[in-house]
Amino acid sequence: DAGPGGPYRVVLLGAGGVGKTAFSSIFAGAADSMDSDECELCGDEVCEKEIEVDGEPAVVTLLDTWDAETGGEWSQEHYMQTGDAYLLLYSITDRTSFLRASELRITLRRFRPARHTPIILVGNKCDLVRRREVSTSEGRACAAVFDCKFIETSAAMQHNVWEAFYGIVRQLRLRRDPK
Ligand code: GDP
Repeated sequence: DAGPGGPYRVVLLGAGGVGKTAFSSIFAGAADSMDSDECELCGDEVCEKEIEVDGEPAVVTLLDTWDAETGGEWSQEHYMQTGDAYLLLYSITDRTSFLRASELRITLRRFRPARHTPIILVGNKCDLVRRREVSTSEGRACAAVFDCKFIETSAAMQHNVWEAFYGIVRQLRLRRDPK
């Protein structure tokens, strides 16, 4: 297990097109290249960085599972077994991606039956209000059923993305250091 300040392995899970690459870019500090094809993370899918959360440093290793869907069962199982925490993304403009998030949550539970693994359900693209297919209350209800936290974000507007990363670090700390 990781020590008190990490490194924490945080895995981005979700259907294709929901914004995982955009999240990785913001985390890596390359938000301007969001629409660029030249994503520096696509080579190794990993970025490790020290961030400050509530005045304390934490080292986070971010894993982007961009190929989890097409990469077959092995790569998906690999990520389900190796993460310390999960950001489970869907797009609020795409109901299929919301259903996919539920499937991934169930699969995750199969791989992590005993341990309490921090998970945040993330409804991304909340800037696209007119294309919304999944309501905020549906997202929140789903998170309650799945016993995980919930946040709506917009990677395009850089809204709440860091809050999602901070939230997962807080949960990882709580797990290690129950108050
Ligand atoms: P991935 O397949 O999960 O890695 O998804 P990407 O990060 O590649 O995003 C897919 C598309 O959605 C890209 O064109 C992004 O620019 C766009 N996108 C990602 N996040 C947002 C968002 O919050 N709002 C809007 N409007 N577009 C987004």
